[in-house]
Amino acid sequence: MKLAAFALALAASPALAAPAHPAAEARALEIAKRAITFRSVAGPGNQTPQLAAYLKEQLVKGGFADADVTVTSIDDTAYLIARWRGADASAKPLVISGHIDVVEAKPADWRRDPFTAVVENGYLYGRGATDMKLDAALVTAALIELKRQGYQPRRDIVLEFSGDEETTMKTSAIIAKQFADAEMALNVDGGGGLLGEDGNPEYLTIGAAEKTYADFELTVTNPGGHSSAPRKANAIYQLSAALVRIGGYRFTPRLNAITKAYFEGAAARQTPALAAAFRAFAKDPTDKAAIETLASDPAYVGQIGTTCVATMLSGGHALNALPQRATANVNCRIFPGVKPAEVMAELRKVAADPAVEFKDVTEGSSPTDASPLRPDLMAAVKTALGKAYPGVPIFPAMSSGASDSMWFRSNGVPSYGVSPVFIKASDDFSHGLNERTPVANIAPAITYYLSLFTDLSK
Ligand SMILES: [Zn+2]
Repeated sequence: MKLAAFALALAASPALAAPAHPAAEARALEIAKRAITFRSVAGPGNQTPQLAAYLKEQLVKGGFADADVTVTSIDDTAYLIARWRGADASAKPLVISGHIDVVEAKPADWRRDPFTAVVENGYLYGRGATDMKLDAALVTAALIELKRQGYQPRRDIVLEFSGDEETTMKTSAIIAKQFADAEMALNVDGGGGLLGEDGNPEYLTIGAAEKTYADFELTVTNPGGHSSAPRKANAIYQLSAALVRIGGYRFTPRLNAITKAYFEGAAARQTPALAAAFRAFAKDPTDKAAIETLASDPAYVGQIGTTCVATMLSGGHALNALPQRATANVNCRIFPGVKPAEVMAELRKVAADPAVEFKDVTEGSSPTDASPLRPDLMAAVKTALGKAYPGVPIFPAMSSGASDSMWFRSNGVPSYGVSPVFIKASDDFSHGLNERTPVANIAPAITYYLSLFTDLSK
């Protein structure tokens, strides 16, 4: 569909309400556009501290006490914490979690400058338009709107933006530790809705679980020697053979309450073959035909169990020498509830060669269980979505990637991906080129957040 037709479809859609909060909507777009201009990328010239300072300025202008909004610098980045004090000091805080750093973007590769915000054909373009500067702007504008309306929360509302979610997650870990007493964390960098290719909202997902990230280094060492006198033991051959065995291996498929609910709920919106596989797998995770269908689809293979894949390879030291060393990295996305050590032990068995040494080289990851599907959270999301997009269904979902939710869950705080931003599957350019998000999301998202934040903090 052409963009103009897409915009028409959106405008004609009865699911999209008229602007209900014009000031907050205008503020959200303005903040998002300004936020995109900060090059908040890890490394030299990182402007995350400046972006955090800009957001603090907006929050203070919007009614937050200056002392209640802090920007803390760490290495080349910074994080922001804004606390809105509730009436009941004994109530646990509600945390609204996001990040303001972005993945590197090379201007030469983009059609437009990634750090200049452009609104064109109904889309906001720029690095962070999807992940997640528009979301940060939306929650900032929604909280300022609640202040303007004179809302008084019962529990503290804490808004926090980490400054290195896309890289080391050092600030993410610090923040989550600081709020280990929270009632729950609402992660606006997760969840999100699917817009059909016809421009109509199909469904919203609530992120309630994440797979665990792990890196295992496999190494084979040999004495080496002259390449004119090959011997049977060869580090490159041994490692390659082990990797081929790992490549052909499938971990036992698994199902949990979240993926079961997702497969059941989302089945109706799939092609007939996928729909049948969704339903069959939800009913019986040992169903061979369903496993084959889902495992062969890159979009779903990560939903049915642990996956491991070779991502880096190096070996040898000279063109004319037998290799003394060969090394590979195997990256795993581990199903919630499974320990990384168990996965490494399983891989070792599959490699079936004692010459292959295994080492867990994972950095910045913490295994977490799924968060329970709390009735209060589910009801609040349902109410909020009903106001923004009446009739659009909601499914819980497990993310195959990692986010700041991991740090809250590892501190025992349930965390939920609750972004109400809808995009088409064909428009998802997070981390990639020409990132963009439809601006038609802004009005319903403000309506949704106003409802959600009051419901869960009153
Ligand atoms: Zn993100």
